[in-house]
Amino acid sequence: MPVIDIVGGGILGLALGYDLIKRGIGVRIWERSRELGGLMGRTRFDDLDGLEVDRYYHAILSSDRTLMRLFDELGLRSEVRMTVTSMGFYHDGKLYSMSTPLDFLRFPPLSPIDRFRLGVTILQARRVKDWRALEQTPVVEWLTKLGGRGTVEHIWKPLLRAKFDGGFDNVPATYIWSRLVRTTDTREKGGAVEKMCFLPGGYAMLINALAKAITERGGQITTGVAIQQVHVSEGRVCGLRLSNGEIDSDGAVLTLQTPIARRLLPPEAADVNARWSRLEEYLGIVCMLLVLRRSLSPYYTLNITDERIPFTGVIETTNLIDRQFTNGYHLVYLPKYVAPDNLFAQMNDEALQRSFLVYLRQMFPDVRPDDIAAVRIGRERYVEPLHPIGRTDDIPPFTTDIAGLYLVNSSQIYPQLTNGEAAVAHAARAAGIIEQTLRSLSESQQTVAV
Ligand SMILES: Cc1cc2nc3c(=O)[nH]c(=O)nc-3n(C[C@H](O)[C@H](O)[C@H](O)COP(=O)(O)OP(=O)(O)OC[C@H]3O[C@@H](n4cnc5c(N)ncnc54)[C@H](O)[C@@H]3O)c2cc1C
Repeated sequence: MPVIDIVGGGILGLALGYDLIKRGIGVRIWERSRELGGLMGRTRFDDLDGLEVDRYYHAILSSDRTLMRLFDELGLRSEVRMTVTSMGFYHDGKLYSMSTPLDFLRFPPLSPIDRFRLGVTILQARRVKDWRALEQTPVVEWLTKLGGRGTVEHIWKPLLRAKFDGGFDNVPATYIWSRLVRTTDTREKGGAVEKMCFLPGGYAMLINALAKAITERGGQITTGVAIQQVHVSEGRVCGLRLSNGEIDSDGAVLTLQTPIARRLLPPEAADVNARWSRLEEYLGIVCMLLVLRRSLSPYYTLNITDERIPFTGVIETTNLIDRQFTNGYHLVYLPKYVAPDNLFAQMNDEALQRSFLVYLRQMFPDVRPDDIAAVRIGRERYVEPLHPIGRTDDIPPFTTDIAGLYLVNSSQIYPQLTNGEAAVAHAARAAGIIEQTLRSLSESQQTVAV
């Protein structure tokens, strides 16, 4: 079997490398940054005794079965901690718990009939087994049919507006369906209790365990080297141009977001390039991380229905993660999903911080400057792949017309949402297909040799 080059050392690249190597296929993984993990990486605060936390918030759900199996395999299961978490809504200047069915029934902006219909929406969504029936339907149309106008105006539209930077006319019903199925799977006792999980060292613990398992089985991982181009000759991959030289290659799997992956294609792969360009839009994110000396609310996620507040939510991860792992500090993330032309995507860090803090104080007027131990701003151009209505056929496949060239990235994760659970399952599916094509390629080469 040949050795395959995997470009990208995020969760997808590492989970794929691990799966391929278990199937007896050699792997070399190439990561541009000095650290592995991509979006799941960590950030360090030297002036807070070297406090190290996730750059972005990352929860693991108790229903993440593929991840749990992987934790078992890698000997990480005993490290997984579980906490009962709750969710809130910021509405009309007040915080409301929305953690239990009873909370839903008490939420003030909904009339009694709307509250009942919200429950019906959740139950009906869980009954849908064939998501293809939903993918031609605009999400707002579907939610209005199930739950009525009141629930759409007061609950769903604010959530959609925040998640899609305002533009959700083209979003299919599969988006909320997927979200509801994933989150209600974490509930126990008739929906009254939600449990989430975390690893004390964040997803980085999984990333490091995968890297260790790969290298122990003979795989090679190189960080601090970017792949600049895939070389193709006579319709097959023959080499790679690295930021520090050239190497021969039997095959390359690009795990990068589609617009970045396309930049690595040579002119000989023009058809592949055109195919991948059919679906390549991603939303980016700006996310302010606050290290605080006090808690803001009891909620892991605080959703916001007030359109004037720019961020998507207030995510207080230390309502999940035990503070013994954060040197006693409270961690709050203020994410905002952004299209590239969004004002907040273009602001410099200083202006963004000033603006977000004004809005945060609007929500929590008693936050004082000395409550804030540190602030860090993260920005990513490609985070959330967009899947507009009826465009499933445009999703690029794993394989291409160039022998040995594959794409395995987040744009192909659909109708599931992009997260660790979906990425690991996606990597396993891709590994199966790659193994199959490599075997038939090597069989056909042997036949030619005979
Ligand atoms: C704010 C936020 C919150 C999130 N919350 C959750 C959550 O609660 N739960 C959850 O499960 N998931 C969550 N996610 C999603 C999760 O982080 C992503 O789905 C996942 O990390 C994507 O992994 P990936 O490997 O596809 O991409 P990436 O992590 O982006 O990895 C791609 C890698 O390729 C490298 N690279 C790029 N170009 C090159 C090149 N030319 N050569 C070599 N290497 C290159 C990059 O440096 C990067 O390391 C969240 C994401 C964000 C941003």
